[in-house]
Amino acid sequence: MARVVVVGAGLAGLCSALALADFGHEVTVLESGPAPGGQLTYAPQPFTLPAVLRDLFRKTGRPLERELDVVPADPAVRWVFADGVEVAVPNASPSGTRRALDDAFGPGAGAQWDAVVGHGDRSWRELRPIVLGHAGAKPPRSGGTLRDVAASLREPRLRAALESYATRFGADPATAPAALTVLPYLEQTFGVWTADLPTLVGVLAGRAAERGARFRYDVTVAGPSRDGGRVDGVRLADGTIGADAVVWTAPPGDLADERRGLFRRRRDHPAPAAAAVAAPVPAGTVRFPAGGGRAASWYDAAGDVHGAAAGRVTALFRRPANVTKTRGLYLAGAGAHPGPGIPLVALSASIVADHIGRA
Ligand SMILES: Cc1cc2nc3c(=O)[nH]c(=O)nc-3n(C[C@H](O)[C@H](O)[C@H](O)COP(=O)(O)OP(=O)(O)OC[C@H]3O[C@@H](n4cnc5c(N)ncnc54)[C@H](O)[C@@H]3O)c2cc1C
Repeated sequence: MARVVVVGAGLAGLCSALALADFGHEVTVLESGPAPGGQLTYAPQPFTLPAVLRDLFRKTGRPLERELDVVPADPAVRWVFADGVEVAVPNASPSGTRRALDDAFGPGAGAQWDAVVGHGDRSWRELRPIVLGHAGAKPPRSGGTLRDVAASLREPRLRAALESYATRFGADPATAPAALTVLPYLEQTFGVWTADLPTLVGVLAGRAAERGARFRYDVTVAGPSRDGGRVDGVRLADGTIGADAVVWTAPPGDLADERRGLFRRRRDHPAPAAAAVAAPVPAGTVRFPAGGGRAASWYDAAGDVHGAAAGRVTALFRRPANVTKTRGLYLAGAGAHPGPGIPLVALSASIVADHIGRA
């Protein structure tokens, strides 16, 4: 049994704590805020790939669906354009989407979007092993930017719709990778889902506590403490806590002492205050401003959040790896591989738990 300190009780911290406590480790979660949840307090948040959460629940007790309702979003997304046209994109229905787009923009629009989804299918085949992989990732071979793919669409409103898959992370479509076409592909193929996030947070925290994890709130961790090349605990304002492994889910950029050799990407952002604030637009609705301005991002209400995508085409694939060069120090969460968003953050926690392994 290892003593594991998990820093942060957002989704990454909760999933890591649950998986590691279930593996039999002595887990302590240290959270600077007064309650768990982190960015999940910005509810609601539709998400893709529920299989990642299902897997964690199945491995650690009662299945996800026995704990909370996970409901398909209807529609998958609603696009609202400045000229008054609205498109409700059906969830997980390529033929329904084709029809909705033909109805909104005229015959052939659905076929244009099909080509985007086809690009996303090819990108997913390349990306899947990278996203599921345990290390930092190389960019996929299929190059270009999301704007390059958008430029191949004749319908300008479809171009704006495609580019919104970059702007939602705060990324620039002119530099974001073309491979972001995986997002509409995933929505069409595996669906978009919703769940009551406060319930999800409560169930994750409750199950982790049942497995023996201890939670301490209002405790800010200054950084990991080290003994030579390995971690031996964390530093607090008033002392240290010893640990054999530390799972850092706070912004990786806060690890000032560790930056050298740890990161290829230098730009990280502070986490938002863990206050309940309404999302900038109704979840699942994307509004396109007149004159081609960018659609709102997840982070407009929250300010910059770690995990916001940085400029270069390859930046999304240059997140710090989950296993660091300091032995026993692991990174999970939106700022680490494979990136932000509910399924990817949960995946980062599962990658870290698998690395640490059973007690
Ligand atoms: C407004 C908004 C809308 C979103 N919409 C969607 C959506 O529709 N679909 C989707 O899939 N994703 C969405 N996301 C993204 C998703 O919510 C995040 O990627 C995910 O919740 C991040 O989880 P995390 O654990 O990595 O980080 P966080 O939730 O930020 O958790 C990190 C925790 O660490 C704590 N902490 C920080 N520093 C320290 C320290 N030094 N010591 C101790 N504790 C510390 C913080 O208080 C926080 O609780 C949205 C995000 C926002 C902000």
